[in-house]
Amino acid sequence: MTSLERILAVCAGKIPDRVPFLLASREFSSRQAGMSLLDCYTQPERYIDSQVRLVDEFGLDGVYDIWCTPAVDELLGATLEFSSSDSASIPNGSVSCLDDVKRLPKVDPRREGRAPYLLDVVRRLKKAVGDSVAVIAWASSPFRTASMLRGVTDFYRDLKRDPAFAHALLNAVHGPCTAYGKALVEAGADIVCSSNPGANMQCISRPYYEEFSHPYTREMFGAIRQQGAKAVMFHTCGKWDDRLDLVVKENIDIVHCDRVDIAGFKAKYSGSAVLMGNLRAVEVLLQGTEESVGRAARECLAQGKEGGRYILSADCSVPRDTPAGNVRAMGAAVRDSGRYDRGDGEK
Ligand SMILES: [Zn+2]
Repeated sequence: MTSLERILAVCAGKIPDRVPFLLASREFSSRQAGMSLLDCYTQPERYIDSQVRLVDEFGLDGVYDIWCTPAVDELLGATLEFSSSDSASIPNGSVSCLDDVKRLPKVDPRREGRAPYLLDVVRRLKKAVGDSVAVIAWASSPFRTASMLRGVTDFYRDLKRDPAFAHALLNAVHGPCTAYGKALVEAGADIVCSSNPGANMQCISRPYYEEFSHPYTREMFGAIRQQGAKAVMFHTCGKWDDRLDLVVKENIDIVHCDRVDIAGFKAKYSGSAVLMGNLRAVEVLLQGTEESVGRAARECLAQGKEGGRYILSADCSVPRDTPAGNVRAMGAAVRDSGRYDRGDGEK
């Protein structure tokens, strides 16, 4: 069974040979290769090599693109700030009124701005790993892009004071976000992943999530599936307990969970989505020992493995300074304790 087959098996409700193992690893792989994050944007071959090395050295079942680079936001007028050790950020909003929304440019994320570079990285990643390993590529969700263009605080205020304006902005960015997600599939991404850290329970209440995030995400992910994505993955940064029932209805195959109880999630939502997670990236993977990482990974497997529908991962992206031995210990745990014996758990 290949790595990609292993992941697609759990998505299809089948039992693979062992639990798949994925890590959002842009920072970690760059560090391992002696690159800064800035180098990723100018030296595609080195970034691709750094990802392929993780598959070879740590037994990961997939590679990631230069994820969380908001190329669409930039095309729509946002100014990105890059740093050598952190994700690109957008310090200020660029949309302040309805006229600004109407003036947003018509963009083609296949051909303009930074997007073609990122798409080319996806294309080359697929070529490098072939059919056997999953290529996972990131697309911004409409809610995330809207809040970046508007400025996060102002956008939260709009949800309450001017919902029509918030919807106008969401509708304007929905097309470009979806077009970029579809372009990732065309470029060779097997799995399109997205994230929306500003829509967790600490940021907005469930009714706001249901009105301003849920329908737009569901539509976008549906279109990406129609484009031929083998799976759609959504990363829930922070706490999402009161809205996971909505998330699993958003045309999502895999929920990469941050703070959830694995057994509890599986009991409730296993029929709707695969759970991926959630060994603590900072407290255990970065700061722990090989022994404590191995123990935590086996605890995750003990809760998640039975019946399939589970991918071992960290709860968020792997910190760049994570000791290689700790990642190796996680891989060893999945090879030892993540194996399904014939007939094990088959339903
Ligand atoms: Zn996260």
